[in-house]
Amino acid sequence: MSEILVLVEHVEGQVKKVTLELLTLARTLGTPSAVWAGPGYSAEAQAKLAEHGAEKVYVADSADISDYVVAPKAELLAQLVSEKSPAAVLVAATAEAKEIAGRLAIKIDSGVLTDAVGVGDGLVADQSIFGGGVNVHSRVTKGTPIIAVRPNATPVEAAAGAGTEERVSVTVSDAARAARVVERVKEEKGARPELTEAAIVVSGGRGVGSAENFAVIERLADSLGAAVGASRAATDAGWYPHQFQVGQTGKTVSPQLYIAAGISGAIQHRAGMQTAKTIVAVNKDPEAPIFELADFGVVGDLHQVVPQLTDEISKRK
Ligand SMILES: Cc1cc2nc3c(=O)[nH]c(=O)nc-3n(C[C@H](O)[C@H](O)[C@H](O)COP(=O)(O)OP(=O)(O)OC[C@H]3O[C@@H](n4cnc5c(N)ncnc54)[C@H](O)[C@@H]3O)c2cc1C
Repeated sequence: MSEILVLVEHVEGQVKKVTLELLTLARTLGTPSAVWAGPGYSAEAQAKLAEHGAEKVYVADSADISDYVVAPKAELLAQLVSEKSPAAVLVAATAEAKEIAGRLAIKIDSGVLTDAVGVGDGLVADQSIFGGGVNVHSRVTKGTPIIAVRPNATPVEAAAGAGTEERVSVTVSDAARAARVVERVKEEKGARPELTEAAIVVSGGRGVGSAENFAVIERLADSLGAAVGASRAATDAGWYPHQFQVGQTGKTVSPQLYIAAGISGAIQHRAGMQTAKTIVAVNKDPEAPIFELADFGVVGDLHQVVPQLTDEISKRK
């Protein structure tokens, strides 16, 4: 079977869930090989990648890779593509990995597809475009296909691979050293999952009414082990931090379950969440456009509905 390269996303040596999703997807397309770029590689990481089907793990763990913004990772992948001739390269559709994908495409003269929510036979990607308003099936027609797949688009399934480690030495060019990372500041991380990785997202909009009222949204999120999101109206009003904004100019999420409370469903908001598997809307206006998109809807005041929902969920735990 043909080799599929999967660029590993990792933080402090921990493999991120999206990589396990990409390995699961890669197994349906060929034989997955994980590519570890930057420091932090360990036997534990190798085991995790192998458990999810990586037959090989290419490791380039020099500090050079992480000291210079994204360019060295694109050089590493270009080198592997030329040495191994894989059938495709999969990366996560994160801001960084999409930039890597774009740079790689230039280097190896290939086509690139971003924001795929699935990849099927013939490496045809199911792609969400025009702010999520249209779904198309696309195929790269030139070179080695590079496909950026959205987090949460593929349910993770374990299946053992050999996980054979192969060290790769990459010579980072002067051009790739043009932008150096001078400082890393660790963002305070709460107990909630990261928004773009979360399997469940509970978002609040203008209907929430105030910053204090966001506690209602947070309580529901915590009862479900979910991340909290917000519409732009809510973040612009200063009710919730901008980093939690979901939509065209915010984060793109693709969870298994998205609960929208007090959100009208403007096209720019939909762009960031409409590939969620199941959408539940709570809105007091029965004509709100979010109901066109929702799988389940509750017409009512969120300040009554959401606390009741939280109580019910807590009771069933
Ligand atoms: C270039 C551009 C980019 C944008 N990017 C984004 C983006 O990334 N993300 C984003 O979200 N928006 C974005 N917007 C803004 C977008 O157009 C909408 O204005 C915004 O999404 C509206 O947020 P909302 O649904 O919370 O507020 P509203 O549209 O005001 O809707 C509030 C909803 O809450 C309901 N409601 C009120 N009170 C209650 C209650 N007590 N209980 C239940 N329901 C209640 C109302 O019926 C209404 O449907 C962008 C706009 C532009 C022009």
